[in-house]
Amino acid sequence: MKVLKFGGTSVGSPENMRAVMEQVTDGEQKIIVLSAMSGTTNSLVEISNYLHKKNKDTARIFIGKLEDKYKQVVVDLFTSEENKKAGLKVVAKSFKTIKSFTSGKFGLVGENTILAQGEIISTNLVTFLMNENGYNTKLLPALDFMKIDEDKAADLPFIRDNIKPVLEKVGDADYYITQGFICKDADGDINNLQRGGSDYTASLIGAAIEADEIQIWTDIDGFHNNDPRFVEGTKKIEQLSFNEAAELAYFGAKILHPQTVLPARVGNIPVRLKNTMNPSDSGTLITAESDGMGIKAVAAKDGITAVKIRSARMLMAYGFLKNIFEIFEKFKTPIDMISTSEVAVSITIDNTQNLAAIKEELDKFGTVEIDDDMSIVCIVGDIIEEENGFAPKVFKALDGIPIRMISYGGSKYNISVLVPTINKKETLQSLSDNLLNS
Ligand code: ASP
Ligand code: MG
Repeated sequence: MKVLKFGGTSVGSPENMRAVMEQVTDGEQKIIVLSAMSGTTNSLVEISNYLHKKNKDTARIFIGKLEDKYKQVVVDLFTSEENKKAGLKVVAKSFKTIKSFTSGKFGLVGENTILAQGEIISTNLVTFLMNENGYNTKLLPALDFMKIDEDKAADLPFIRDNIKPVLEKVGDADYYITQGFICKDADGDINNLQRGGSDYTASLIGAAIEADEIQIWTDIDGFHNNDPRFVEGTKKIEQLSFNEAAELAYFGAKILHPQTVLPARVGNIPVRLKNTMNPSDSGTLITAESDGMGIKAVAAKDGITAVKIRSARMLMAYGFLKNIFEIFEKFKTPIDMISTSEVAVSITIDNTQNLAAIKEELDKFGTVEIDDDMSIVCIVGDIIEEENGFAPKVFKALDGIPIRMISYGGSKYNISVLVPTINKKETLQSLSDNLLNS
């Protein structure tokens, strides 16, 4: 069985929902994972923010607007009165849940419950739509099998044990539809796999049922070898290894949730990225093997802050890095890149929420310098084992770029450089001209 995931744009209007239906109904049994309609999760985040700020009146206005939008979707989506009624009932139920948080206390569980409604509505509506059109389709409630553990990591053994009974319970069908993104947590409360997490849902399900293939359908024809927003003439990549795709997904290429690759790699299940707007295109195929050596792609991740700690105490000492890293750990701030010299260490982070507190503690160890508005540019491929290495070619292509940090050798699939974001475009262009299109 295959698992297919369709993103927010793919279910973003009644017309697009119908297109998804046409796309999936080829007679082959499958599980279809859906996001919320595009814009919905953002609106629900906004509503939650107003509720956190105790601005209930504004929250109510936004809730009303969103509910009106959904009522219109239902009217446009279905032909039969019976389905219109059923659709409106689903919408009313979700909005009753959302509205219940406009009085009384509001906390994290409330927020996560609100955020879950987008996927709950979209999956119910598409299930009705497919049945209205004569396709035997059943809804699989994701909250009955999707789970994260105490560390907020996906609980694959639980998912594996629980999805089969749920499939059996809902009964035989040609098509199963389920919610992306949402899950239960270790306390049994509604939670989620973080923004963009529907891709991750699809690959967790794929791994749990040992699917033949996981397909991620979006509005672009796959990974490109460079960022089409900044560089002209980028090309779609036909094939990537799991390792290469993991690096690319993490660094910039917004097309795939970075954690998606992991469960697929564990189960050795091919992942294919497909374009809803151009379904006949083969997309990008991600498998265990790489289809050859060399540089496949470059990508950039913005919003990076570099933190440099310079200290004479680091010289020939041990335990210095441990002390530094512990501070970041204490403030739950992940580190992306590291480079060290004998007297200084530079680190990059993308979450600056606790930076002031981190700096205060780092100050005890030495002089701290902070640079923001930086970008990590990452060069991905099967790079290091090539006989003469790719580093010289990369460095030549970076001639004239003010590089702040370099990371090479951490994995054989990636060379990363840190540059000021104002120099990102020329960095990407130069890498493209010298490494990809030459
Ligand atoms: N609806 C969620 C979001 O917008 C999950 C997803 O679309 O992947 O982040
Ligand atoms: Mg997405």
